[in-house]
Amino acid sequence: MGFFDLKAVCGVCGKEVGWNRFKIKRSNAWICSECLKKAGGAMSVDVSKVTIEDIKQMIPLDELEQYRDPLSTAEGMYQYCNDNKFDSGCNKKFMLRHFKIIEDNLLDDEKVYVTFVGVHNYVSATKHDGNYAYAITSKRIIIVQEDIDIIEEETLQSISLEDINNITLKLGMVLGTITVDTIKGIFNITSDKTAVKLINSRINEAINEINNDNSDNDNERLGSDTVVSVADELIKFKELLDMGVLTQEEFDAKKEQLLNL
Ligand SMILES: [Zn+2]
Repeated sequence: MGFFDLKAVCGVCGKEVGWNRFKIKRSNAWICSECLKKAGGAMSVDVSKVTIEDIKQMIPLDELEQYRDPLSTAEGMYQYCNDNKFDSGCNKKFMLRHFKIIEDNLLDDEKVYVTFVGVHNYVSATKHDGNYAYAITSKRIIIVQEDIDIIEEETLQSISLEDINNITLKLGMVLGTITVDTIKGIFNITSDKTAVKLINSRINEAINEINNDNSDNDNERLGSDTVVSVADELIKFKELLDMGVLTQEEFDAKKEQLLNL
């Protein structure tokens, strides 16, 4: 957890920033020089006074649009399902309607990794809850079905990723089923075998990525912890200085490096 390998990302475009970066103190974030340029450049933007949101306002919409995560909109979710054949035979209208509910319920810092449609709680061809739309996000599994005559539950349900015990895949001759075992109960999603196989691996990839992101938090994001980290690092170096491991020169260099980050 060294402080020096801290990977900083631009608060606007999300790309990793190199040394040519600017601190946006009010948002406790970085901005890359490219995004700053798009917002008007260092001469016209006072980085000490603005927030990341302010800067986003300064960037022309069409330039900002290209940074938008495609899975953050219903249209993008539909496209993704269509491209991957995750549609479970549902039409565009059904998918857009259901993905719109997911889009509208996303939290500010929630990222969608996988979306798909499948038959909920399939038992047999005549015994199931019908098609549902699902999204795996950085926080939860979102489950949507808005045809109230089919179910009596709420249109949108969600289960926190932490509350999932297990996700298992079972493949039949034609169909495949993903079973999600949660602390609230078990449900399953069925669709054609090929799609289910791919959905399952996408879910696994997403969950791995989310877990990695969480464990790398200290390194990859600038949170309030960073302030503590700088102080901690300085204390460590001061101790090394006092012990004679570091020279005054080396200590000063480290100190400057830390304070200028
Ligand atoms: Zn940027």
